[in-house]
Amino acid sequence: MGLHDAAITRHNLLVTSVDNVLNWARLSSLWPMGFGLACCAIEMMATNASNYDLERFGIFPRSSPRQSDLMIVAGTVTMKMAERVIRLYEQMPEPRYVLSMGSCSNCGGPYWEHGYHVLKGVDRVIPVDVYVPGCPPRPEALIGGLMKVQELIRMEQIGLSRSDALKKLEEKALDPRSFVERERQVVQA
Ligand code: SF4
Repeated sequence: MGLHDAAITRHNLLVTSVDNVLNWARLSSLWPMGFGLACCAIEMMATNASNYDLERFGIFPRSSPRQSDLMIVAGTVTMKMAERVIRLYEQMPEPRYVLSMGSCSNCGGPYWEHGYHVLKGVDRVIPVDVYVPGCPPRPEALIGGLMKVQELIRMEQIGLSRSDALKKLEEKALDPRSFVERERQVVQA
């Protein structure tokens, strides 16, 4: 996770912007809150196990919302639990991010039609930055979502709002050149 748009001068000086340094530091130390709500949480726990070695990206769970900058909503959000989710979100310091993991959290999942006790998407109570589809999503899908959060942070600028950064990220995702570039990186890896 290197510094982007940085240049090294012939006197071994690294030249870059304040935005780049701040974003690099924040995206390289993403600390999700360690809590899960239902079966999706099992996959989240597997993602945190040694097989996937998330710590190489600087990602490791914290047990307090006050030390976390990412909330992974993994599982079914019942009406009762929704209040706790809001409270935990409010206890996280800014800047904070939310990743919705799995169909239940994205839209109510299997409880969409008849689950009177289930919230039909956690974005009805807190803002969501990245959605990961699946029932449950595999660890690779969750890691993909975490990379998206990192990309979002990389787009941020002092004075640029979160929604502007999201718009830039969407434009980049829709740009066919960036798709080709990503495919090339996968082939070369
Ligand atoms: S999306 Fe599927 S796996 Fe995840 S919590 Fe809901 S029912 Fe369970």
